[in-house]
Amino acid sequence: MTASARVVSIHYTLTDDKGTVLDSSKGAEPLQYLEGAGNIIPGLEKEVGKMNTGDKKIVKIPAAQAYGEKREDMVMEVPRTQFPPDMALKVGDRFRGGAEDHAPVFTVMAVNGDKITLDGNHPLAGQDLTFDVEVTEVRAATSEEVSHGHAHGPHGHGHHH
Ligand code: ZN
Repeated sequence: MTASARVVSIHYTLTDDKGTVLDSSKGAEPLQYLEGAGNIIPGLEKEVGKMNTGDKKIVKIPAAQAYGEKREDMVMEVPRTQFPPDMALKVGDRFRGGAEDHAPVFTVMAVNGDKITLDGNHPLAGQDLTFDVEVTEVRAATSEEVSHGHAHGPHGHGHHH
């Protein structure tokens, strides 16, 4: 990463290939990220990398450049005894596989007696995504942001040092 790294703020609306809105920054603060640090999905980072403040664009990102293709080896069967006995488990439940923010999220696919089937794929894996993007701000990253590998918000929220 060079000293010319950018911090980019975008408003976006994310839709799947059926046009269903999956996520949007509208009504909230724009998403701010540090370029080149892997903060957002690679396909979106590449497209927004060519845009400047005020630019708007509809960007289609194939699954491989978004959350990746679905992987069969991420679907696994584990014994019920791996979970606390008082933890209710039902199909569709999601939980994090660890305490870290980036720990994979598992979805319960099936409950058969003492066998639980889990899917560790990202819920958006295998999906082509469309982002309606507007760049609201571009600025140079500070050396502190570059060394941390992420952007620091205007109010320093959501991030502790
Ligand atoms: Zn930081």
